[in-house]
Amino acid sequence: MGEASIPPNVIPIADLRYRAAVPAIPAALRPATGQLSDALGRPLRDLRISVTDRCNFRCSYCMPKEVFDRDYAFLPQSSLLSFEEITRLAKVFVAHGVHKLRLTGGEPLLRRHLETLVAMLAELRTPRGEPLDLTLTTNGSLLAKKARALHDAGLRRVTVSLDALDDAIFRRMNDVDFPVADVLAGIDAALAAGLEPVKVNMVVKRGTNDGQIVPMARHFREQYGSAAVLRFIEYMDVGSTNGWRMDHVLSSADVIAQLGAAFPLELLAAQAAGETAQRWRYLDGGGEVGVISSVTQAFCRDCNRARLSTEGRLYLCLFATHGHDLRHLLRDARASDAELTGVVAEIWAHRADRYSELRGRGIAQAGGGERRVEMHYIGG
Ligand code: SAM
Repeated sequence: MGEASIPPNVIPIADLRYRAAVPAIPAALRPATGQLSDALGRPLRDLRISVTDRCNFRCSYCMPKEVFDRDYAFLPQSSLLSFEEITRLAKVFVAHGVHKLRLTGGEPLLRRHLETLVAMLAELRTPRGEPLDLTLTTNGSLLAKKARALHDAGLRRVTVSLDALDDAIFRRMNDVDFPVADVLAGIDAALAAGLEPVKVNMVVKRGTNDGQIVPMARHFREQYGSAAVLRFIEYMDVGSTNGWRMDHVLSSADVIAQLGAAFPLELLAAQAAGETAQRWRYLDGGGEVGVISSVTQAFCRDCNRARLSTEGRLYLCLFATHGHDLRHLLRDARASDAELTGVVAEIWAHRADRYSELRGRGIAQAGGGERRVEMHYIGG
């Protein structure tokens, strides 16, 4: 049976789920110049590192309970990249021009001693000797306990996912009955530890939490001003298990229309190329909000991101079907740093992914084709 025909409630074995080729070590090794360019002329600036495929939430749009249940085979500890392996690979990417590292998952705060990894990554410097923009995306459930240690280890910023302010809606969405108050306590702890501003990401699913757009905006404006920046994310067709449908997507244009009716807004200019969020300012000075429109306004043209999975596979697009097995090079081929550098240069040079743009133009079919990698495995 081919992968594309596997129904969503059947769990294929791990190797089928996450296909990855072992990259060949090129005969001529290109050294790092800090300036890679892919087949569409895009640089490599941002590396997202998934540190675990496990999560303590079961949001239906990401890790639905019916699929990720007690019998689901998460990766064994021995498959995960060690902190030393992650740091070694991160160093190669930084030499190639990456200046932003985001730790993600799964739920990254479930990985034990994460602050040790943060401290190791915080030591890295760009080719120009500058510290990296080191950040983390979390569901906030363990943040109240860990914010101080993460900050002290060198974390600079944090993004917290929160899909509703209404406790009943939030508990239903995370599907493990987790209360809003504990996530808000995590945000407060992050701010108290100096991780400011905190970005708060809300995935908007039409008919589920779209009534929470204005209450969320009001809460974060009034309680936090510019110390917290709320961003609304269009519900995406990542992975193959969430039963995504276009009529569940509420466009960013609709989000801005709802918000603008409550709080007059003004569009802000982008701060940097490749920025995922479009930024809007409250005209009354109450701070800003953002919208991330990867469904209705694909931003593939500027995409400068790569993703390293929990077990060391490199993915060049959130919607990828295939990865590149860097762990094999580290553990089995015992590749040198120069060889790893050459391999990453070669992989990036051939990158031509632009799934969202093709989907937007009707060329790629949402939910169709080969099984795509799951978001909890390569990280958000
Ligand atoms: N556990 C962490 C968290 O909750 O932030 C990090 C991993 S989670 C996969 C990263 C982000 O992806 C979260 O903000 C989550 O809401 C978002 N996400 C997951 N599935 C999504 C989807 N189908 N569409 C849009 N965003 C999604």
